[in-house]
Amino acid sequence: MTVLERGVRRHLIAGSAREGTGSETIDVTDPATGEVVGTIPAGGEADADAAVCAARAAAPDWARRDPAERGELLKACARVLRGAVDELAEIQTRENGKPLADSAAGVEAGIGAIEQYAEIGPLHRGAALAGSWGAVDTMVPEPRGVAALIVPWNDPVAIASGQIAAALVTGNTAVFKPSERTPLSGARLVELMELPPGVLNLLLGDGRAGQALVEHPGVDVALHTGSVETGRQIAATCASQLGRKALLELGGKDPLVIDEGVDPRWAAEQAASGAFANAGQVCTSVERIYVHRSLAAPFIDALVREAESITVGNGMDPATEMGPLVDDRQVDVVHRHVSDAAAAGARVATGGEPADAPGSFYPPTVLTDVDGSMAIMREETFGPVVPVQVVGSFEEGLELASATEYGLAASVLTPSLQNAQRAARELPVGTLKINSVWGGAPGGGAEPRGVSGTGYGYGPELLDELTRTKVIHMEPAPRAELGATDAR
Ligand code: NAD
Repeated sequence: MTVLERGVRRHLIAGSAREGTGSETIDVTDPATGEVVGTIPAGGEADADAAVCAARAAAPDWARRDPAERGELLKACARVLRGAVDELAEIQTRENGKPLADSAAGVEAGIGAIEQYAEIGPLHRGAALAGSWGAVDTMVPEPRGVAALIVPWNDPVAIASGQIAAALVTGNTAVFKPSERTPLSGARLVELMELPPGVLNLLLGDGRAGQALVEHPGVDVALHTGSVETGRQIAATCASQLGRKALLELGGKDPLVIDEGVDPRWAAEQAASGAFANAGQVCTSVERIYVHRSLAAPFIDALVREAESITVGNGMDPATEMGPLVDDRQVDVVHRHVSDAAAAGARVATGGEPADAPGSFYPPTVLTDVDGSMAIMREETFGPVVPVQVVGSFEEGLELASATEYGLAASVLTPSLQNAQRAARELPVGTLKINSVWGGAPGGGAEPRGVSGTGYGYGPELLDELTRTKVIHMEPAPRAELGATDAR
């Protein structure tokens, strides 16, 4: 079946496809062509209510199953998904534009996350305490209840898969709301995961559906991966409900600090990969660069050459290295940042104009002569644009890198062990990458700093976040005295 034939989606609640309760629908557009590839209902309060009630109804049975059984069910889902990698990758590329190979890598990463949580979930455990003689004191994790999983569009299958698996293996049931920009891959993911009715429900729609879900009194924990603005709203709603936890993985303005003594061509390759992968639409994209004056000129030349060598096109074409942005709204955000910077004195070294052709294309763009007063150096751009500021020392680079309200990730390139250690101590971020803008060992969970979020959204620690600990003190009851009234 083609993507288009699959294109009209409905909510999936308690194991059945449901029409939306309202009549409003949302079209999903292929950003490479502008073609409508799907339509979803714009879910509202009544749809959110149905989805949460289904999850609540399924919760007691699901929580009582052995964790190993939940893990086995998730492994079976992963096996089915492994047979659908190409299909999911194509749907994703048609929704958000990323090159097909990158899309497939994201789907594979998501399936890997399901397999990992299916394996480590049953090993998640509490603790035995050293209490008084004759007593047993333990700390046991319990599911929180119903999890609201609210996901963005930039790597939708990978992000959703990890959240779904971690929530379910710990005994929660879930309502998953994919982004309105990439709901088709999210819907197909849920369809393919064969689970007992009500354990995993799909709510379609935009921010209004997400808000109705988070506000629903039946939700116990909200996981949101997305923008700072939405994260603030979700945090406020959860705080006002007391007892409802918010786990927030939000945006960033990640710096790359380049020290003296670094090979400028290698630094440019690293910078281009960090800034232009997925057209700059990765939460940990390189969003601003501080380069040491001693190598600034050759570095900028090499970075411009890297940017100009990237093949931009439709993600379905195997030759494409960078696809379009997710939609025209994103092109507008990116172009406003670039134009405002240029108006304030920045030099556009390459790129800087949206493509004059169908589709939401923006070229790889390098800006120089920038400073911290410009939005492009302060606010998340989330596009294929990298501004470069020249600094007099590594220390100055670290200071400017730290002068931000965000704290998601940062990278440094340096031959100096001393400077690497200094960056590790001083940069206020959840993730630091030294001498490679990508990479990391499996299981690396981190807590974002500043407005970039709160709590662990990944790694084994997410299992702790999704459970509540109960401490139990147990003593033997005294033996009843013979003839006592209450012993009969
Ligand atoms: P977004 O916050 O606009 O949307 C994310 C999800 O929230 C969508 O499903 C949306 O419908 C929903 N939503 C919107 N308003 C809501 C509300 N009031 N209540 C509840 N839900 C609501 O973000 P986006 O534009 O889809 O994604 C891009 C952002 O995601 C970027 O800022 C990026 O940095 C961030 N991101 C962060 C990470 C991370 O791990 N830190 C990973 C990927 C993306």
